[in-house]
Amino acid sequence: MASEIRVVLLGAPGAGKGTQAKLLQEAFGAPQISTGDILRKAVADQTPLGKQAADYINRGALVPDAVIVDMVGQRLQADDCQHGFILDGFPRTIPQAESLDVLLARLRMSLNCVLSVKVPQAEIIARLSGRRTCKKCGGLFHVAFDPPKTEGVCDQCGSALIQREDDSEATIKHRLEVYENQTAPLVRYYRDRGLLRELDGVGGIDEIRKRVFAALGDLAK
Ligand code: AMP
Repeated sequence: MASEIRVVLLGAPGAGKGTQAKLLQEAFGAPQISTGDILRKAVADQTPLGKQAADYINRGALVPDAVIVDMVGQRLQADDCQHGFILDGFPRTIPQAESLDVLLARLRMSLNCVLSVKVPQAEIIARLSGRRTCKKCGGLFHVAFDPPKTEGVCDQCGSALIQREDDSEATIKHRLEVYENQTAPLVRYYRDRGLLRELDGVGGIDEIRKRVFAALGDLAK
């Protein structure tokens, strides 16, 4: 695709943001910036950031805004972001969205749009509780809806699949509450700024991919 893409994917945990972000990354050649993936890697590598974030992640709570904004600010200055980026899981609070506006203004960039992926809560719970993740390459699977060819093994890199600790039932409930209280207000924030494009996130991966591309309009032509 010729256009530069600078978008935010907004939606509850399990709405399919990561899956669609990876497809956009392939199509546009712009990086997926998943704050969840960056934090999980920092936890695995036991960096100072990881040590600070681990407890919040395991409880399904949000890592403090200042930590996240600093992390994203650095990431957006990397060379590979100069011709676009796909933000996945950030911003997640109003202060994060306000900080993103400041960061982008400083970098003389602006968002094309914000794609809000809508999925009913019952479906979210079914998706998250069956989700399996490859710790090595980030591959995503679901025990029922998108099983790997060999049970427990990543199709892409052959590593073992795990269930994320925060995909346990009690933590899922908490993450959904956090989403409703802290992240859902961003729908209005971006609607008020004329950037919001909403789409139905229920269906097959390819069906949703088509909706995502339709929502991008001219950008995807
Ligand atoms: P995710 O993979 O996007 O579901 O994120 C997993 C966890 O990482 C979240 O439950 C939070 O603990 C943390 N996290 C990811 N992104 C953010 C963010 N933008 N702000 C605060 N915490 C975040």
